Amino acid sequence: MKSKTKLTGRVIFKGDPGYDAARKNWDPHTDKFPKVFVFAQKTRDVANAIKWARENEVPIRPRSGRHSLEVNLSQVNGGIVIDVSDMNTIKLDKKNGTVVVGTGNSVGRIANTLARQGFIAPLSQI
Ligand SMILES: Cc1cc2nc3c(=O)[nH]c(=O)nc-3n(C[C@H](O)[C@H](O)[C@H](O)COP(=O)(O)OP(=O)(O)OC[C@H]3O[C@@H](n4cnc5c(N)ncnc54)[C@H](O)[C@@H]3O)c2cc1C
Repeated sequence: MKSKTKLTGRVIFKGDPGYDAARKNWDPHTDKFPKVFVFAQKTRDVANAIKWARENEVPIRPRSGRHSLEVNLSQVNGGIVIDVSDMNTIKLDKKNGTVVVGTGNSVGRIANTLARQGFIAPLSQI
């Protein structure tokens, strides 16, 4: 593909090792085959993926926890999936009682990590 921008982060193209695992959502029965998955490690990786997609006219799907009940929402044929699940840092400030969490965290990971350090996260489901 002709593009000024290079994809960065953990990049898995169709045909690469790990492609099948990258396609699997909580419900693994997706019938979409994206061109490439980008597992962003930092904000710049997301920005590069969006630029790359625009330059190559490739449709974009963002993905976080892969837990949607609608199996194909986060994937698209021939597109780019920008997956933020690797961005899962949890920075606790014990002194101020605040925490900054990466967008790729699951509720369980946040709750467990904080509980081990003596904090409860007021997380809820609808
Ligand atoms: C067993 C089960 C139980 C559930 N229980 C509940 C419940 O109790 N309460 C509840 O509210 N929901 C529940 N859900 C639904 C689930 O929480 C929602 O579908 C939620 O959107 C999944 O989040 P995710 O990050 O895994 O999304 P994904 O599956 O990764 O993506 C879902 C959609 O959001 C978009 N998206 C993902 N990340 C981003 C992003 N960073 N920026 C922009 N768009 C993005 C995707 O493109 C896609 O369209 C349940 C689902 C399952 C499978």
